[in-house]
Amino acid sequence: MGDEGKVRLGISSCLLGNDVRYNGGHLNDSFLTGTISKYVEWVAVCPEVEMGMGVPRETIQLQGKSASPRLIATKTGVDHTEGMRSFAEARVAELGGANLDGFVLTKDSPSCGLMRVKVHRKEGGPPSRDGIGAFAWVLTTRMPDLPVEENGRLTDPRLRENFVDRIFVRRRWRAMLHDSPTPRGLVSFHTAHKLTFMAHSIPYYREAGRIVAHVGSRPWDELVAEYARVMREALTFLATPSKHTNVMHHLMGYLKKAIDGGDKQELLGLIEEYRQERVPLVVPLTLLKHHLRKHDLPAWVHQQAYLSPYPEELMLRNHV
Ligand code: SF4
Repeated sequence: MGDEGKVRLGISSCLLGNDVRYNGGHLNDSFLTGTISKYVEWVAVCPEVEMGMGVPRETIQLQGKSASPRLIATKTGVDHTEGMRSFAEARVAELGGANLDGFVLTKDSPSCGLMRVKVHRKEGGPPSRDGIGAFAWVLTTRMPDLPVEENGRLTDPRLRENFVDRIFVRRRWRAMLHDSPTPRGLVSFHTAHKLTFMAHSIPYYREAGRIVAHVGSRPWDELVAEYARVMREALTFLATPSKHTNVMHHLMGYLKKAIDGGDKQELLGLIEEYRQERVPLVVPLTLLKHHLRKHDLPAWVHQQAYLSPYPEELMLRNHV
């Protein structure tokens, strides 16, 4: 698969610190260019520069109806709608073959913004805040399965963790399809992600289980497509403290006979502290992992991606 272990992310180029903005500046995002960049192979895109608008350039904005705005240069009134549309269609088609695990877009941009982008009225007055950037629209419409976020939302610790979780799951999914695209590969992928599903959505966890139960008796392509859809939808549900609590209690069930009453009370106490959002997830989980490591449990318990979903160095489970 190339660049083993790294996730492959598309990104609005200015977020990497590239001087591609209308004013020759950038919007370097310290989270994205920090620790996580060691684990990411970036595919940078600046739609405005790549379609030939140059740097520096006149600013542009969305104008008209929110459902079908035009992309207009603010001083000269030049209409870039069709130019951006045909550029974006071609670029996104190319990105479809680039094995991306996700995409990070720049908030508020009339080209790259994912949500709540300003749409101006021709007649003036306050803009509405319900647009999507012209490039972002094509990207999300043509690649609906791709995990996509914008840099503004990634400052929220829970949304950040959820996005990183999704891109690493997708990375492992791609690896399975590449290295072991067989019923056995799918079963082992599913087995390793049972608790990941549980942490996001119990109904989807059950649905995924039902799909895998038919492996071998349904056409492979159909089965894989359905599993991928269920997985994508499951992971859009945030893993909340009560869902994590449920998963940790589930894991504790395997330790029932292995740990004594004191250890059990200590663990339950920390899980409750976490559920009440007084300590971060990493606190009960570290102790739980310590006990799991020490005991001879079924192999599938140790194989859970949930226990180590992405590099620990990212410290995404350290927030309250
Ligand atoms: S927001 Fe998008 S179009 Fe604007 S500078 Fe950044 S990458 Fe380029």
